[in-house]
Amino acid sequence: MAYKVRFVNYPEHYKRIWSEVRGAIDECLSKGDLIARKQLDDFEADLAKFVGVKYALGLNSGTDALLLSLKAAGIGKGDEVVTVSHTFVATIMSIVFNFATPKLIDVADDMEMDISKLDAAITKKTRAIIPVHLNGRMTDMRAVNKIAKEHDLVVVEDAAQALGARIGKCKSGGTGLTGCFSFYPAKILGCAGDGGALTTNDDEMMRNIKLLRDHGFKRDTNELLMYGFNSRLDNIQAAMLGIKLRYLPDWITRRRQIAAKYEKGLRKISGLKLPPGPDASGDYFDVYQNYVIRSEKRDKLNAFLKEKGVETILSWPKPNHHHPALGLTKFKLPVTEKISRTVISLPMYPEMFEEEIGYVIDVLKEFHE
Ligand SMILES: *Cc1c(COP(=O)(O)O)cnc(C)c1O
Repeated sequence: MAYKVRFVNYPEHYKRIWSEVRGAIDECLSKGDLIARKQLDDFEADLAKFVGVKYALGLNSGTDALLLSLKAAGIGKGDEVVTVSHTFVATIMSIVFNFATPKLIDVADDMEMDISKLDAAITKKTRAIIPVHLNGRMTDMRAVNKIAKEHDLVVVEDAAQALGARIGKCKSGGTGLTGCFSFYPAKILGCAGDGGALTTNDDEMMRNIKLLRDHGFKRDTNELLMYGFNSRLDNIQAAMLGIKLRYLPDWITRRRQIAAKYEKGLRKISGLKLPPGPDASGDYFDVYQNYVIRSEKRDKLNAFLKEKGVETILSWPKPNHHHPALGLTKFKLPVTEKISRTVISLPMYPEMFEEEIGYVIDVLKEFHE
């Protein structure tokens, strides 16, 4: 069926930056700049500056940023890594595929890691924490870093949904050993396919990730220094991302405007729980990767939205630890479980038209009349 308001609108997105994107692709193709050329170096430098760190390294996905972070940090068999269940499954996979053991804890009411549960999850075997900055809002890294320091733990930030988010001066992806970003098309900075990056201030991590993403190959001396992977960010993608990064501050402003409009239009509906508004939470600067509302009548409401032509997604209707194949069913996480039964993600992207925002609000009001 044809939606009245789509969940994302890639054609509209590219229409607005078409000539610049075309120019970047033309330049790469006409010069044959396809792998690890200037466009990648330039984008990495710009991204590092944006995140406020020494280094950014392009990778083929956010998933690989997580995987390679733990690997380069030496996390492996016998180690425990604490993270949340309320996340995209790749966060947990990165632990399992490094042969370590995931310890899942609950989230707080704002859907970020419940820091008060962290201490109890840490054992003698714990080596790392992966806070997930979900929906464009940061986990309180000041608190996470403090606990990590006390217990001598590595912190890998899953910042895949939070490029540009901050708490005060603390930027997402800027204070962990690494920050992991995704450029999946629907992400706040999306490329035309898959892509990701890792940020760090650590020289040794930078050197190791550079090797791990490129078969362990040190190009200037022709040496193989370790076994590695093929996890490079394509040069064409880097060229496009470099262009888009310049628009990102404006796009974030627009996302926050849309969040304010949703907030204003929906706050009087008693059956809905809204995310924290853009001006509601002190020094939190949320970038609204997603706008996630909650309703006890979720399934009925979601069907109504669909019937009225509003495309939504549910992230996630069944928590990771309830999928038997993942072997995590021993965890009992009541807040995560409740969130999974009630969440709906509404359309949220800079290209949304005013009428579309108004229409989504009207449909939600109509349901609750
Ligand atoms: C998107 C996402 C990832 C994975 O990124 P990919 O680029 O799709 O591999 C990891 N964690 C979270 C929280 C994400 O939203």
